[in-house]
Amino acid sequence: MKAFPWHRAELEALLRDRAHLPHALLVHGPAGIGKTEFARALAAGALCEDPRDGLACEACASCHWFSQGNHPDYREIVPEAALEDEEAAQGEGAKADKAKSLVIKIEQIRAVADFFALTTHRAGYRVMLIHPAEALHPAAANALLKTLEEPPPSTLIVLVSDRPARLLATIRSRCRRLALHAPPRVAGAQAALAAAGGAPLLARDLAEPKEAELRKRLLAELARPGGADALQFSAGMERASVERFLYWMQTWVHDLVRLRLAGDPRHHVDQVSALRSRAKGADLEALFALDRELAAARRLASPPLNPRLVAEHLLMSYNRATSGTHS
Ligand SMILES: [Zn+2]
Repeated sequence: MKAFPWHRAELEALLRDRAHLPHALLVHGPAGIGKTEFARALAAGALCEDPRDGLACEACASCHWFSQGNHPDYREIVPEAALEDEEAAQGEGAKADKAKSLVIKIEQIRAVADFFALTTHRAGYRVMLIHPAEALHPAAANALLKTLEEPPPSTLIVLVSDRPARLLATIRSRCRRLALHAPPRVAGAQAALAAAGGAPLLARDLAEPKEAELRKRLLAELARPGGADALQFSAGMERASVERFLYWMQTWVHDLVRLRLAGDPRHHVDQVSALRSRAKGADLEALFALDRELAAARRLASPPLNPRLVAEHLLMSYNRATSGTHS
């Protein structure tokens, strides 16, 4: 369980002195920047039995349990609906017919009261992670407040929120606040993106309607069983969009390659079935060649003079790479 590189300093600063972690920490900042990952990395670090520079070693029994999702001294509290989404994303089948709660209910907070009453299994910290904290039902928030007012020893409660202003003021005042920043926009962003699996930037970009629209249109083309309609799509290509076009297309190609090499997609995780079907007939060598072309196009300092031709050419290369005529 790793925090993203751009949050490493904050994580190390907190874990440097494990004996004096706050009882309650409110982690806040913009959506999609990796706050929950940060909170989990913090939890793993606090629970680890053999920390390295304060961070989780990823090798001890505690880290093993944590990664398996069954550490006895760790609880994660999310709205039922979020839990369902995660299960569906993991292909474990969602019970879509049953309406799921979008709020964190008081029963969920009460259920962990016993957890806090026990001594810890590993004689270390007990950690509870609540996200998103603004989803706490007022009754649940009040129940939580009681715990925050008299925190049991060796307890770390981490609240994660995009919208801390929506929390009860009494809850906010009982937490140490930690503002996390977005990943760097320019310097090293691509390296950070690769390390992080693309998700935070994806989330950030998709928060902008124009970006979401471009990605949606492009992915519909790339997913098309007979191949992309290169001419029609490229006809509407604007210079201002080329950079993002190249980015989305390259991440899509990376996902195809990862699928072919028996991995999972890393970027477009919401498009797994489309990726699978396109990966099936794809020629790996041709995908690598296309990836090099995309990388070269992205390295150009300025947008191309003729974005339409660039898009057309790349989409045609893509169609050849995924046409299924290769063995
Ligand atoms: Zn460990």
